[in-house]
Amino acid sequence: MAKIIDGKALAQKIRENVKKEVDNLKLQGINPKLSVIMVGNDSASAVYVRNKSNACKNTGIEFEEYFLPEETKEEELIELIEKLNKDDSVHGILLQSPVPKHINIDRAFDTISYKKDVDGFNAVNVGKLCLGKDCFISCTPYGIIKLLEEYNIEISGKRAVVIGRSNIVGKPMLQCLLAKDATVTVCHSKTKNLADVVKEADIIVAAIGKPNFITGDMIKEGAVVIDVGINRMEDGKLIGDVNFEEAKEKASYITPVPGGVGPMTIAMLVENVVKSAKNS
Ligand code: NAD
Repeated sequence: MAKIIDGKALAQKIRENVKKEVDNLKLQGINPKLSVIMVGNDSASAVYVRNKSNACKNTGIEFEEYFLPEETKEEELIELIEKLNKDDSVHGILLQSPVPKHINIDRAFDTISYKKDVDGFNAVNVGKLCLGKDCFISCTPYGIIKLLEEYNIEISGKRAVVIGRSNIVGKPMLQCLLAKDATVTVCHSKTKNLADVVKEADIIVAAIGKPNFITGDMIKEGAVVIDVGINRMEDGKLIGDVNFEEAKEKASYITPVPGGVGPMTIAMLVENVVKSAKNS
């Protein structure tokens, strides 16, 4: 029976540490501040922004939100980002995705100064991550590495399989695991014999967005299972990409949904804001 990796507890510990660092920075006259931009009325995004706002408030980070209407022009968004880039009181800029289709999100992400890109989505930070340089790392993969370290789970030399190749989770996860000397395979929607590949993994990271996609028979006995998926079912329940009940019988460690990776993502965001404030 797998040990449960408690993301909520570690996230709480990290937030307490962040609060102490924020208090110290304030004594030096630095007031860490995060600016969040949301374009349009995506209801899930509104919940994520609220959670980020609460995490900032709880750690003493100033939080500023810009809710722009759906019809906002790309140039207007770019102008706002450029204004925030120049504002020395702002340490982190976050553009909540998705944005309406008429806006080129890559251009918007790349307009954010890499020094304030606390989400780590900017091409400069992605490039630095690939080169093993100090940078802002996308919060979800960064949080997963912290979870593995907290539980003394060895990464070096292990066979890791990441399912999903998104820019936000799958690709930076590959780089983070590679930087820790794992042998990494990335699977995606065109992967053939996916179950056979997953079965070889010592560490499985599932970031697909399909409920219960990874079943117990795909998991090697003793593997570490990290479930990134957040799927809201019709009854309102949140479930992951991994069939938890089956997987916990095979895995050595497993993250639950909710309470695993999710809280870590937000904890790493506030940690990144403090890092940016210190760099400033
Ligand atoms: P995405 O839709 O951008 O990417 C999904 C990936 O899954 C794609 O690369 C695709 O190739 C792959 N995929 C789809 N069908 C597949 C199949 N049949 N076989 C193999 N691979 C397949 O999603 P994302 O943004 O990476 O998010 C993935 C999941 O993680 C979602 O449920 C999302 O809500 C969740 N998420 C959670 C957090 C968190 O903090 N816990 C953060 C980000 C995303």
